[in-house]
Amino acid sequence: MSIENRARNSQNWPVSRHPKNLFYGIFASLPLALALPAAALQVQLSPSNPQLGDTLSVMIDVNQQDNQQPKVVVGEKTYPAFAVSPNKYRALIPTTPLEAAGNRTLKVAGDGQVQNLTVKLRSRKFPVQRITLSPGKSADGATEYELKRVAAFKALQTPEKYWNGKFIAPSKARISSIYGVRRYYNGKFAKDYYHRGVDYAGAAGSPVTAPAAGRVALVGTVSQGFRVHGNVVGIDHGQGVTSIFLHLSRINVKEGDFVKAGQLIGAVGSTGAATGPHLHWGLYVNGQSVDPVPWRTQVFE
Ligand SMILES: [Zn+2]
Repeated sequence: MSIENRARNSQNWPVSRHPKNLFYGIFASLPLALALPAAALQVQLSPSNPQLGDTLSVMIDVNQQDNQQPKVVVGEKTYPAFAVSPNKYRALIPTTPLEAAGNRTLKVAGDGQVQNLTVKLRSRKFPVQRITLSPGKSADGATEYELKRVAAFKALQTPEKYWNGKFIAPSKARISSIYGVRRYYNGKFAKDYYHRGVDYAGAAGSPVTAPAAGRVALVGTVSQGFRVHGNVVGIDHGQGVTSIFLHLSRINVKEGDFVKAGQLIGAVGSTGAATGPHLHWGLYVNGQSVDPVPWRTQVFE
């Protein structure tokens, strides 16, 4: 478009494609108070191109603190947004291998406004394992007590944020199984199963350290009935983010302790339903197991 044409269009604002020119026209003809619309809710979503297993971060800038905590609704679920700085809130949305790839609509509510965001979730190929179970042997031997305690731990949504910066590996050992592996049991696809964490092939007795700061909110032992998890430690990192460590041979913390990133919390073992010594680290966001890798490579502010 030539300069002359642009100049003509700005005089003739209803056909202009330039919003600046359009505003100019309105401001020129209306009183200022009427011309200023309510500032739109500022919402920022990351990552920009997510895949299954990623954690979606929704940053919400509000204009005034109206005591109304912003929230994000996805399908049937509502996720709270927690304060990260003055007038800035953030909600974390988990995604998992059990979901279908494709578009998601996020309804963001704050400042008395609602804004819809659409995000495309990329599909991802997860490795597949074929497991043969001998007749009569069930993979599910958890006690009610164990399930109840673990469920309560994963449901924590503490308003405070305890972690800072990138998460670090809780074991120096090599990774023996990544997040999201799917399974067939005796040839039948287990549609509700995915590997809800990362396994480290640590030797029995090798150190397990906190991947990020938090409050120890779960300590359980085999003798208390943690038959599948074994000796277990759960760290609440705050704002709906929790870490769980399974099959420990030793526990160095107690419930209520605050731990720093890198602090010793226990030792690798094979307690509970484990075929050999290894550490299982599960990272949960608002109750769903997510891929820890992005948390180790990026900063969730
Ligand atoms: Zn595992």
